[in-house]
Amino acid sequence: MNAATNIYPETKAPATTSGYDVFRIRQDFPILGLKVHGKPLIYLDNAATSQKPQVVIDAITSYYSASNANIHRGVHALSELATQSYENARTKVQRFLNAGDPSEIIFVRGTTEGINLVAQTYGRANIKAGDEIIISALEHHSNIVPWQILCEQQGARLRVIPINDQGELLLNEGEFEKLLGPKTKLVAIAHVSNALGTIVPLRKVIEMAHSRNVPVVVDGAQAAPHVNIDVRALDADFYVFSSHKIFGPTGIGALYGKRALLEAMPPYQGGGDMISSVTFEKTLYNKLPYKFEAGTPDISGVIGLGAAIDYLNKIGLDRIAAHEHELLVYATQVLSAIPGLRLIGTARNKAALVSFVLENIHAHDVGTVLDQEGIAIRTGHHCAQPLMQRFGVDATARASFALYNTKEEVDALAAGIHKVQEVLG
Ligand code: PMP
Repeated sequence: MNAATNIYPETKAPATTSGYDVFRIRQDFPILGLKVHGKPLIYLDNAATSQKPQVVIDAITSYYSASNANIHRGVHALSELATQSYENARTKVQRFLNAGDPSEIIFVRGTTEGINLVAQTYGRANIKAGDEIIISALEHHSNIVPWQILCEQQGARLRVIPINDQGELLLNEGEFEKLLGPKTKLVAIAHVSNALGTIVPLRKVIEMAHSRNVPVVVDGAQAAPHVNIDVRALDADFYVFSSHKIFGPTGIGALYGKRALLEAMPPYQGGGDMISSVTFEKTLYNKLPYKFEAGTPDISGVIGLGAAIDYLNKIGLDRIAAHEHELLVYATQVLSAIPGLRLIGTARNKAALVSFVLENIHAHDVGTVLDQEGIAIRTGHHCAQPLMQRFGVDATARASFALYNTKEEVDALAAGIHKVQEVLG
């Protein structure tokens, strides 16, 4: 296995795993000490949500116990403290994405809300009857349905970039090129597929779209925990991710947008904080980013997200990517050797997850038997039903790895799958 293989070709090659002490890292996550059905928890459902290190839990507790107040509007000490922590976290997100300015970072509930925000603001202002929006066959429902709603509202049409049997986008073959035309007004694309793990050659997609002056919205939900993201190097127009997938709290995430685009967009929701002045006749909106942050936000969530970014930075995404790549290579090798197991999604560039089906055994049953072994995986359509249809299955079992998973856990997964086959095969 070659840890130095560049699995993320648009970023730096992953560092080696030397000095990466996964057992030490595991100590940071209190939940990993749990037993489930009397067995040590083996948590392989990280693509659904990741576990939280103590530093994130502490940051949230500390906010509520030592600085809880509403932000932006108060002149008292606690409000100033809370505002400072909230805005510091915005700067952390800005650096995490390498955005040019903190005002280009909008806090949202997560990836889903970020995409809906773009659809209902940028989309409603710029997509007209007869226009086309391009997505890909890899998309999560969160990057399909908001565009379908927009298409229905505006009389526009959704086009889909097809994939090959490995789960890679058909770009070179001219498929994307063929779809891009004068009617194309937007491309919305995942950076990493949640169901297959495919890493999309994003820079190329963006270059191709930009050569036709088409802006690109990136669903970064599955990339953020694994890939160094640089929105400026990618030249992404919008980039969205969720805190809970990067070891932060649920219910919060961030949307990056290029300043000029955000400036020109109408607001998403009306309410407190998003205004500069209100009369019954006319409201003037606040400057960026507040124009898009109506109402009291998830202050503790934002602070927790900031702590999660600090935690990731401390370990280093390059080292995390190298560790996860070793797990992926190992898991692919071990699982491929199991008779009756078919891997779904074998892209050359993959994030650390394995989706599979077992002959004559339903994915849900795989998940149930593994649960009895203390192994948490996800089974189902992974909110990507069109993708499941593409592979002729209604569900897969998916084991997804994070920075704290070990090869021993991969071995336990393989042993668990053998047990599933004994019990149900
Ligand atoms: N896109 C992808 C690729 C995802 O994996 C997910 C979460 N499963 C989402 C979007 C939606 O993220 P959230 O539920 O955090 O809004």
